[in-house]
Amino acid sequence: MSFINGTLIASYFICKRELWLMAHELIPDQENSFLEMGRFIEEEAYRDEEKGFLIGEMKIDIVKQGDENIIIGEIKKSSRSELSGIMQLSYYLMRLREYGIVAKGEVLIPKERKKIPVEINEEIEGRLIEAIKDINMIISEPYPPKPEKIKYCNHCAYKEFCWA
Ligand code: SF4
Repeated sequence: MSFINGTLIASYFICKRELWLMAHELIPDQENSFLEMGRFIEEEAYRDEEKGFLIGEMKIDIVKQGDENIIIGEIKKSSRSELSGIMQLSYYLMRLREYGIVAKGEVLIPKERKKIPVEINEEIEGRLIEAIKDINMIISEPYPPKPEKIKYCNHCAYKEFCWA
């Protein structure tokens, strides 16, 4: 089973069932066109910037030097994943602070030309700490939560697991 990481934090804010499936390393449909689109966007967008940094267990899409702080970026396919992107980046910002790195974040949605600034604060940190407790409880269950139709389902690589 996976330990907590940024991807699981992102899933938690999208769908608890997806979180469980991912944490238990069930492989989603690799042919899913939305996964392919995600890969394409990650590879092709922001081509000029350095990408794909591994810091500890964190895989950060973009790292660049801002005017005052380091800026880390998380690329998302659409606004549907905006909240999960904000929380994923906030988790990275919180973890980076443990390494003594003060950074800011940006959720980037190239398809929509959107850039959402993210800064860690007490409220978000409290939310993350609660989320981490909840994630540990969910993934320790022997079965995933039941599927619930949400706007994300149609684009989800796990839809065969839920609705076939
Ligand atoms: S198809 Fe829907 S219910 Fe199933 S994992 Fe994906 S988002 Fe969750």
